[in-house]
Amino acid sequence: MNTAEQILQDVFGYGEFRPGQEEVIATLAAGKSVLAVMPTGAGKSLCYQIPAVMADRLTVVISPLLALMDDQVSALRTNGVDVACIHSGQTREQNIIEWRRVKDGAKLLYLSPERLMTERMLAALSAIQPTMFVVDEAHCISKWGASFRPDYEHLSRLPDLFPESTVAAFTATADRATRDDIAEKLFRGNGLAVVYGFDRPNLRLTVENKASWKLQLMRFLEDKAGQAGIVYCLSRKFTDEVAVYLREQGLNAIPYHAGQTAEQRKVNQDRFMSEDAVVMVATIAFGMGIDKPDIRYVCHLNLPGSLEAYYQEIGRAGRDGAPAETLLLHSLRDMGMRRQFIANEGDDAHRRREHHRLDALLAYCEASECRRIALLAYFDEVSGACGNCDNCLFPPSVVDGTERAQTLLSTIRQTGQVFGAGHVIDIVRGVKSQKVLERRHQNLETFATGDQWPKDEWTVFVRQLVAAGILSINIQKYGCLELSERGYALLAGEGPFSYREGNITRSDLKAVKKKIDQPVGLCDVSLLSQLKTLRLELARARNVPAYVVFSDSTLIEMAGARPTTLDGMSGINGVGPKKLQEFGAIFLRAISEEGPQTVV
Ligand code: ADP
Ligand code: ZN
Repeated sequence: MNTAEQILQDVFGYGEFRPGQEEVIATLAAGKSVLAVMPTGAGKSLCYQIPAVMADRLTVVISPLLALMDDQVSALRTNGVDVACIHSGQTREQNIIEWRRVKDGAKLLYLSPERLMTERMLAALSAIQPTMFVVDEAHCISKWGASFRPDYEHLSRLPDLFPESTVAAFTATADRATRDDIAEKLFRGNGLAVVYGFDRPNLRLTVENKASWKLQLMRFLEDKAGQAGIVYCLSRKFTDEVAVYLREQGLNAIPYHAGQTAEQRKVNQDRFMSEDAVVMVATIAFGMGIDKPDIRYVCHLNLPGSLEAYYQEIGRAGRDGAPAETLLLHSLRDMGMRRQFIANEGDDAHRRREHHRLDALLAYCEASECRRIALLAYFDEVSGACGNCDNCLFPPSVVDGTERAQTLLSTIRQTGQVFGAGHVIDIVRGVKSQKVLERRHQNLETFATGDQWPKDEWTVFVRQLVAAGILSINIQKYGCLELSERGYALLAGEGPFSYREGNITRSDLKAVKKKIDQPVGLCDVSLLSQLKTLRLELARARNVPAYVVFSDSTLIEMAGARPTTLDGMSGINGVGPKKLQEFGAIFLRAISEEGPQTVV
């Protein structure tokens, strides 16, 4: 019997587990359902691939993107795992062959959600009784989530249809509301929900008010020559415009958006994956399933859709763990545009939820304390000041708001923590609205104690309290404001709380340049680029993306260690026996032909 650890080494070529992997694997192997929230790059795939290889019956993997599915399948086959894949991007004949693989004992079957949910497929799978169903990008099942997909909703029938099967759900971004919803839909709450933390300490978080995107972007890119990064834009037109501008500035910038042909997008993506120092200027169409570990920066020139979306997008930087920078530019105009989008989608409840999500994002933008505290608080994670965000590095000038905050918190507590910001602000400002009068809130002792501040200044103040993790916005309950533990502590006299007053301009952010450490470290850069070229040739010949051959981190390690024997090669992380056999000799030759070492 193979243990998880043996499979990790013998099949995937890795020396040890990453945090969380072992626990998820053990839980699944014991037949208990799991919802695992793990940050991007944590290694979610292995969490289900290893139990699937260990099991004697089939594991079905449901994944939202055909391209991503194909890549996973090629990657598994390259490692010698027997896997099948059925989706509408393949011919009928191909799908028949793939089904035969399942009958012949394939360990995994990758399926698109709509394929799984046909009556024929469900009947065929009933006869097989799969051990496990894996739902990748599980947040897509939830209407609470930032990227709901209607075809995922049907997956909530799975626990009724296959009560004996284990369910493994994975996501990198899900706030509390989304997590509860996923667990309820996929295993009726009878499973383990584990959150392996959202913290990505190597990402530097910076947010600025948008004054001139050109100046701000160029200043951001100033010290990033030679590095790869992504610049996110909202519209296709703006994406093209930014790419042209950056090219005029002498940068290797490529646009990417859904208005291009599939072929053009593939070429652009390949260039990003294989060339050094490409600035990908893209809409959110770009990014899902990009496994490039050395993306050094992500810049948002427009406000993202929500904190979940933002977290996911910046999460593409620095997957190798080396320092990476992020910059978000926001403006009132962007905010208005987002509100407009929301006004045109879904039902009332959905719109309300999305407005509250946007409020949480704005709170983050206006945070006067550590950004990381604010971002992690949104995902219910408590952390200390990071020392690595704009607010930590260049603290904004703030005023003491302890008493003001206490007044507000006390109002919220006395009114039962069931009202949104609008009503609570009316109370402290002394507005005798109908709602105030109906509930006799004019009799509260905090009524009208804060009338020296206009409404919009109160709104900004509330956002800063949310950003500091003192208040939270309950998205499931009409966006009502609730006190967090820190909120109760502040109310009990544990201060202070400082906030940024008035309108926020960040002229003080004339960046003191902090040179980011070279990510590659001691490794032969010219050899690395030769290995990358070789990888691209091999990948093209096999019609798979480059990382299926070897990931960047594997090549970086190879270029650093310069193995001279197959045995030495097998010691590199990411070189399993199957890949060793297929590519080992070719890469050894490239290394030996490269000549003497030129370490930088
Ligand atoms: P996620 O889906 O969580 O973003 P992936 O499953 O794509 O992450 O894994 C990210 C990268 O980390 C992949 O290149 C994968 O092969 C690698 N990886 C996963 N687990 C390990 C491990 N235990 N040791 C080394 N590398 C690993
Ligand atoms: Zn910080």
